[in-house]
Amino acid sequence: MAPTGLVLENNVLDCRPGCGACCIAPSISSFNKPANVPCQHLTADYRCGIFGQPQRPACCGGLQPSVEMCGETREAALVWLTQLELATAPGRVP
Ligand code: SF4
Ligand code: SF4
Repeated sequence: MAPTGLVLENNVLDCRPGCGACCIAPSISSFNKPANVPCQHLTADYRCGIFGQPQRPACCGGLQPSVEMCGETREAALVWLTQLELATAPGRVP
């Protein structure tokens, strides 16, 4: 286990079990998912219910855990991802 609760497997970071922060905080336009709402495919144990299936958006498949994004805790990840969502929201005045 890496210090952040992320799982280090073959030198690659894997998700913190029971997190799901990146399936909640960001908006996902292809699902009409607003920010801060759990994805319709997020399971009760915070896993992706359509992992490996073609309807899983490319943005999900391309997202890799990182110490910066995932933080020390699930709560820290939710804060970081929410700030990113706000900073990149359409219509934001720089
Ligand atoms: S925030 Fe990080 S640890 Fe949490 S579900 Fe997303 S990638 Fe995994
Ligand atoms: S499709 Fe899966 S990985 Fe993507 S946000 Fe939904 S639950 Fe998360």
